[in-house]
Amino acid sequence: TAQELADKGFKGHDMLAPFTAGWQTTDLHPLVIERSEGSYVYDTNGRKYLDSLAGLWCTALGGNEPRLVEAAHKQLSVLPFYHSFWNRTTKPSLDLAKELLEMFTARKMGKAFFTNSGSEANDTQVKLVWYYNNALGRPNKKKFIARSKSYHGSTLIAASLSGLPALHQKFDLPVPFVLHTDCPHYWRFHLPGETEEEFATRLADNLEKLILKEGPETIAAFIAEPVMGAGGVIPPPATYFEKVQAVVKKYDILFIADEVICAFGRLGTMFGCDKYGIKPDLVSIAKALSSGYLPIGAVLVSPEIAEVIHAQSSKLGVFSHGFTYSGHPVSCAVALEALKIYKERNIVEQVQKLSPRFQDGLKAFSDSPIIGEIRGTGLIIGTEFTDNKSPNDPFPPEWGVGAYFGAECEKRGMLVRVAGDNIMMCPPFIITPEEIEQLISTYGEALRATEERVKE
Ligand code: PLP
Repeated sequence: TAQELADKGFKGHDMLAPFTAGWQTTDLHPLVIERSEGSYVYDTNGRKYLDSLAGLWCTALGGNEPRLVEAAHKQLSVLPFYHSFWNRTTKPSLDLAKELLEMFTARKMGKAFFTNSGSEANDTQVKLVWYYNNALGRPNKKKFIARSKSYHGSTLIAASLSGLPALHQKFDLPVPFVLHTDCPHYWRFHLPGETEEEFATRLADNLEKLILKEGPETIAAFIAEPVMGAGGVIPPPATYFEKVQAVVKKYDILFIADEVICAFGRLGTMFGCDKYGIKPDLVSIAKALSSGYLPIGAVLVSPEIAEVIHAQSSKLGVFSHGFTYSGHPVSCAVALEALKIYKERNIVEQVQKLSPRFQDGLKAFSDSPIIGEIRGTGLIIGTEFTDNKSPNDPFPPEWGVGAYFGAECEKRGMLVRVAGDNIMMCPPFIITPEEIEQLISTYGEALRATEERVKE
């Protein structure tokens, strides 16, 4: 167990990292973060860490953007709360909806629905889609297809949509109406001699086979992250989205883009959909929407779906769904300011400028004997440790290779995300070129130390 490894002398908080957030305990000596500044966070002992994960893939504008603080303060002093039920709402909420609909240009969107998180956004997707299909008189079109290794959140439905076994085991999940299809990870799953395009074709064919086996009339929607995040940072193989979109369209299945990590510049485009030519019917966003400063998520709904839901609400009853804090005015005010900053500072261009050195600098370590693959795009990257450079030769889990690497980074003043032998990084967009150099050299030092440890 992590505790046993720690007892053997492994240091660092990643060793002791249970997949839990709300469950607070001091028994495992957590790293307690006290303040943040730019790309750095500081613990209660005053130690400084380069925050290579932007909090949890979210603090795009770094640790102390005064304009976001000011926006929150201003809104708090005028109207700290009002709800958005029964055709009442607040100006920040209305303004943010309008702004988001204008910003999303991969296709025209009709309405925004606010939540507090990405998980709630994805749960909301399911209810919207079911309501829509009921309104169209096809109540049996209820099933969702997601992908292995995806991450869509932690609530019952979002965890079901996720394709990570740890989120299902011991919880009786996934719920029966959720099916999973292939993970589009070329390096791990391609057949000998198969090109990326051929791999994408095979996956699209498998998706079609699954749809036909279940009956297209029973499948409501397909959900996908443009680049898979928590599953290990997995960019799609060439032509993948083109091909799966053609399949879902053929069977009148809605496409949900989970942009919770990718939105607002992460991939060097404003949305992940822009990068891969995705024309979704529904979109989930959260995280960088407020640069992580306050909880907020949203669903963007196509005009066609919004219209059906609106027109049918007199027959079916209103779309009875919403949260006390849907469209919270303070979160919305902060989000509005964040979006303004992304545009003013031309954040997409900034990510495009920073990402070649970030990607190339880290990918230069690909020849390490303990690295199977380094993969990423824009300002997001994943490292997978394996033996013999092969996806089929994982290190024994009890070696804790990923956790050891994480601990070596932590020792040198950098925090990374560790999930087994996968390492993930996704720094704030405001990271400077000098900080990228620091990130790369710290990674290199931690890697050498981990190589030594594996040799032992
Ligand atoms: N979707 C994706 C792609 C995510 O990465 C996450 C969180 O990491 C979620 C949904 C869930 O968001 P939240 O943790 O805000 O509920």
